[in-house]
Amino acid sequence: MPQARYHGFDASDRPQRKPPRAPGAGVHCGKRIVPVRPRSLLVDLDGVVYQEGHLVDGAAEAVAWIEDRGIPHRFLTNTSSRPRRAIVDKLGDMGLRVDAEHILTPPVAAADWLRGRVDGPVALFVNEVTWEDFGDIARFDEAKHRRAAAVVIGDLGEDWTFARLNQAFGLLMNDARPPLLALGMTRYWRTGGGLQLDVGPFVKALEYATGTEAVVLGKPAPEFFHAALHALDASQKETLMIGDDRVGDVEGAEAAGIPGALVRTGKFSPSDLDADPPPSLVFDSIADLPGWWEDCASAR
Ligand SMILES: [Mg+2]
Repeated sequence: MPQARYHGFDASDRPQRKPPRAPGAGVHCGKRIVPVRPRSLLVDLDGVVYQEGHLVDGAAEAVAWIEDRGIPHRFLTNTSSRPRRAIVDKLGDMGLRVDAEHILTPPVAAADWLRGRVDGPVALFVNEVTWEDFGDIARFDEAKHRRAAAVVIGDLGEDWTFARLNQAFGLLMNDARPPLLALGMTRYWRTGGGLQLDVGPFVKALEYATGTEAVVLGKPAPEFFHAALHALDASQKETLMIGDDRVGDVEGAEAAGIPGALVRTGKFSPSDLDADPPPSLVFDSIADLPGWWEDCASAR
């Protein structure tokens, strides 16, 4: 049998702390090796489809294969600082055409969550460029409204002030206790000027002050993965999440009941394979997906 570039091991292998095969060693598609038989795909973007401004080798072909094969899919990204349209443009600049509807970002997932659950103006403490992803949802205006039906917290960066944070707090303390939505829970990020607070600390401050728990729409929160499944009308067990972040992508998906596959691109580190349990499926890159799917996942 020709050597495959992917490797996998099932639950019976998991008590071993190390993968049963050296990383990169191939395995065949024996019955007990294939851990999942997906029909739908969730795919991380940064580190999987592209990295450092360029497409990963073979990613364009893999994405074309996903589309040609008609596999229901969503690209999942935690980007909340730009509208979905800008992500489509960025991918286009790298030579990859992707439909906007196939990309799920925290603002888009939050908008879908709100449409199904709240009625009334929503207070958006988010970067203005992402307002377009909230579409027709009525926005809270303090000149017109006394209360908000929900409060959404995103990364406002230097636009945060005590007054704005306190306004969000006041809206959440209304008798109706509107839901608090968080566009991810990233703690901080690195800028040219050093580390900077992201959205998470502000959400934590509001959770602490109000005694409420935020609905988090961003990896690794289960609600975000469930939003993707809802958009695909797919079941957990028949979906595969592919990512380069063992915790945010793979373990997050698996906590939501979705099998995860780790790619050895992007932020992958060899120490990710020492996790207990180890990732149940590892690809050298997304370029290996079509071969694995045709050889293994579609064998029924
Ligand atoms: Mg990534």
